[in-house]
Amino acid sequence: MSKEHYLDSSAVHNVWDNSIEPRLHIDPGDTVIFECVDASGQQVTPDSQASDLTQLDFGKVNPLTGPVYVDGAEPGDTLKVEILDLKHKGWGWTGIIPGFGLLADEFPEPYLKIWQLEEGSAEFKPGIRIPLEPFCGSMGVAPRVDGPIGTVAPTEHGGNLDTRGLVKGTVLYLPVWVPGALFSCGDCHAAQGDGEVCGTGIESPMTVTLRLGLVKGASISEFRFETPSPLTKTDTQGYYVTTAHGPDLYKNAQQAIRYMVDYLSAEHGLTRPEAYALCSVAVDLKISEIVDAPNFIVSAYLPKSIFTA
Ligand code: CA
Ligand code: CA
Repeated sequence: MSKEHYLDSSAVHNVWDNSIEPRLHIDPGDTVIFECVDASGQQVTPDSQASDLTQLDFGKVNPLTGPVYVDGAEPGDTLKVEILDLKHKGWGWTGIIPGFGLLADEFPEPYLKIWQLEEGSAEFKPGIRIPLEPFCGSMGVAPRVDGPIGTVAPTEHGGNLDTRGLVKGTVLYLPVWVPGALFSCGDCHAAQGDGEVCGTGIESPMTVTLRLGLVKGASISEFRFETPSPLTKTDTQGYYVTTAHGPDLYKNAQQAIRYMVDYLSAEHGLTRPEAYALCSVAVDLKISEIVDAPNFIVSAYLPKSIFTA
């Protein structure tokens, strides 16, 4: 009989480290309900102002709930994470944090949007509504190397994946590097575009329900997943797409977003910080072409369905 367990958010960890004691031991196939605080570690609240983002203590960001020890997990196995449910708590935030993000040099001032989250969507401003497609930005296991690893850059143990396909109904596969796997999660996003270009999605505290299983002896090197259709909610009215070409995919992504910020400012009356933040929660970056050397094309897809007016 599989069991259901509950982990509150009273103890979080802010680094990945294989010496962190597990808070819970489970059998493969058990379900765990994780309470996750927001990615700021409760430094941002519904009453916060943009200027508060300049005071963020980065030692507290990306807090993780866990670790969970899965009995029988050994290096060389694969951890199977079935994403059963994510429930937000009614609010979230999107911020431009000085020094962080795809266009950090061009957006030096802090910006903060506090969202009220409804059942399936949230209003950005009158006439613009974002469908909610919640997922955990951070899911991972303990690294094989000893010592603390920061929670910003994803690595072979998972971590800050920020991959918006990891919605309810997805099965995530992670390599196991240490006995018990030591799984943790956090950094929930109520919505995010592929790329998370300003550095934040709709950052939201959530209750996350996952079933953790094992595929014994099935070794993978990096995470992979099976997902239902992550584009179902937004793929209803087509897209406005900007593109940029060049030999460097990162620079192309920056340029495609610059064009989209220009477009949103000119055609939809947004301030440039609003446009950049909207790109972060709703625009999907795609590699459209990577064979016609030396120039490759990155596209930025803006779903037209977010405009309700
Ligand atoms: Ca993240
Ligand atoms: Ca985040």
